[in-house]
Amino acid sequence: MNRFTHTWAGDVASAISEIAGDGTAKFIAGGTNLIDLMKENVERPNRLIDISRLALNRIDSAAGGGLRLGALARNSDVAYHEAVEQRYPLLSKAILAGASPQLRNMATVGGNLMQRTRCCYFYDTATPCNKRKPGTGCSAITGFNRAHAILGTSEHCIATHPSDMCVVLAALEAVVRVTGPSGDRSINFADFHRLPGDTPNIDTKLRAEEIITGIDLPAKGFPKHYSYLKVRDRASYAFALVSVAAALEMDGHTITEARLALGGVAHKPWRDPQAESLLHGQSASRDNFVRAAEALLQDAKGYGHNSFKVELAKLTIVRALSQAAFGEGES
Ligand code: SF4
Repeated sequence: MNRFTHTWAGDVASAISEIAGDGTAKFIAGGTNLIDLMKENVERPNRLIDISRLALNRIDSAAGGGLRLGALARNSDVAYHEAVEQRYPLLSKAILAGASPQLRNMATVGGNLMQRTRCCYFYDTATPCNKRKPGTGCSAITGFNRAHAILGTSEHCIATHPSDMCVVLAALEAVVRVTGPSGDRSINFADFHRLPGDTPNIDTKLRAEEIITGIDLPAKGFPKHYSYLKVRDRASYAFALVSVAAALEMDGHTITEARLALGGVAHKPWRDPQAESLLHGQSASRDNFVRAAEALLQDAKGYGHNSFKVELAKLTIVRALSQAAFGEGES
């Protein structure tokens, strides 16, 4: 058993100074991923700094007509919040597609962004894994990789990011608000998570001594034309093989704006503005949806067990866009 201490942070400033002064410490809030990682010996912090009592759980209006989600707002509170349901139904839908009710009641917004891959080799300390132990190799590339990435991979890691919520936050162009020793800063959601490159052990752009304080949702929530379509091995409590968040603005049958984000296919929620732009000003037709899907997957690469995902992703994009355009969010 690994011994660790547990302390409570009283405010954001003390949380930052405590984590900055102890390289072996970790923040904990809902604990729905970190505790699993500690049980498996993947994470071995000497100290847990509990931030769950910080006043960061509110959901408030934000400047410019948007909505600010506190970093400690529980996933279920966000999903069922009236303003989220009415103005950002795509976000509600994605959150409710993830995990289980019990986990959603514990998991926080900030923790959802910080959760780590569910690659089985990452959790198995008897196997090589560059993300867990840099320089040891990647067991998944030549191993069982059915759940792994097909876009943005590297020779060092083909893991996927497991979140549903983050896929929609990417589509909505949310902004991550963080605070550190040198003050506050904002990170565009597209820049928050990293591709693996040659440092797959680093998941995000968050600095070690920084804390996430909230997520800002822009005013535009696409409440009329949206779909979150998640394809998985069973109907609940399963990670996505492929998921697609589709959000459209339409003028009659013409698409005036399109957002597409994919989960289950890359080390981060995957967006391709060039593929999205193929839909702008076009009619909502299957041919145009197929063209966008082909463009988005043109550089996709399978590794054997997961090669089926390339075609699956195209089909899921086409169906999600059809639902967004004609089904008003039904999926
Ligand atoms: Fe580790 Fe990434 Fe390879 Fe999985 S895919 S074994 S997380 S390096």
